[in-house]
Amino acid sequence: MADIRLEGVGHSYDGGRTWALKPMTWTWRSGRAYALLGPSGCGKTTLLNIISGLLTPTTGRIWFDDREMTAVPTAGRDIAQVFQFPVLYEEMSVYDNLAFPLRNRKYPKAEVDRRVRQVSGMLGLDDHLRRRSRRLDPGRQQIVSLGRGLVRSGVAAVLLDEPLTVVDPAMKWTLRSTLKEIHRDTGHTFVYVTHDQTEALTFADEVVVVKDGEIVQAGEPTELFLSPAHEFVGHFIGSPGMNVLPAEVSDGVVSVGRAAVGRAVGDLPPGPVRIGIRPEFAVLDSAGSTPGVAGRVTGVDRMGSYDLVHVLVNGHDGPPPAERDGQTGQTGQTGQTGQTRQDGQDRQGGRAGQG
Ligand code: ATP
Repeated sequence: MADIRLEGVGHSYDGGRTWALKPMTWTWRSGRAYALLGPSGCGKTTLLNIISGLLTPTTGRIWFDDREMTAVPTAGRDIAQVFQFPVLYEEMSVYDNLAFPLRNRKYPKAEVDRRVRQVSGMLGLDDHLRRRSRRLDPGRQQIVSLGRGLVRSGVAAVLLDEPLTVVDPAMKWTLRSTLKEIHRDTGHTFVYVTHDQTEALTFADEVVVVKDGEIVQAGEPTELFLSPAHEFVGHFIGSPGMNVLPAEVSDGVVSVGRAAVGRAVGDLPPGPVRIGIRPEFAVLDSAGSTPGVAGRVTGVDRMGSYDLVHVLVNGHDGPPPAERDGQTGQTGQTGQTGQTRQDGQDRQGGRAGQG
């Protein structure tokens, strides 16, 4: 296992006119669980394929610790990659499919058997080992593909490209925690590509957010949620994402319209700013006794354990549609959103205050 370092790595599919991946320098630290999160088309798969060697970058160099790997083909990189859709030998049994990567590398027979049974047990495949792979449903076939990626030891990294897309929702929850367990047991570096933030936040030690071919922020899940460094991250992480309002700084005070909502932090100069408020932290006060911003409730979504309240503030709409696309569970249609617990403590009202 090694640190995987990308040095000025970028990729263009059209001879340099546009960059699917803008040149970047970044290190995947050995043994860490990463989620690579971003909307469709932002360059996640391109990045994975560059790490595994399926794609040669247009520019830059790749290092595994101090070994340069830029020109080393996939077979020489010792990386396990799992794709979005099953990649199996359909006529082989599930057992033989799982054993294939091990036999190919001349693992002793007893070790092959031990590893196949271990992975099969963890992924719930024990009852299917003797079946031909083509007889399985696509979800189960994908779990076998996942097993093929996880069965080897000592790989430089396990790259997972949206591996649970075709797996049914009930299985997804179980498999997410199984993957976490496997990461803990093996200590391999995992890079898990997804556009689903729940998947990213539950799986990863570190979430790397990509937009338009660039890493915009990387950090622990809580850090990204509480301290997004970029407006896009605020919108993208969270369900729904962060509310953003135009505001004004004057004499160290931040105001939305005429309402003062807080003190400016640091040495923020006077002038227009944009402030972000997570729905979870907005307090909705129908009595108007909390200092805050006046707004009009335009709708309430009953979510089960909480209500999602849509509030129109100063006629300002929520995140622009382009930034909302690709989020799961995002329901903000117009205006800002806040959440209320369904225990009668916080009911929606006409004022959205600063949380
Ligand atoms: P998704 O979540 O939809 O899989 P992604 O984030 O993985 O998207 P990529 O598949 O890496 O994004 O694509 C990045 C950009 O490069 C997109 O604009 C895509 O259209 C383009 N692209 C990807 N593969 C090719 C290719 N073989 N030839 C030309 N353009 C490509």
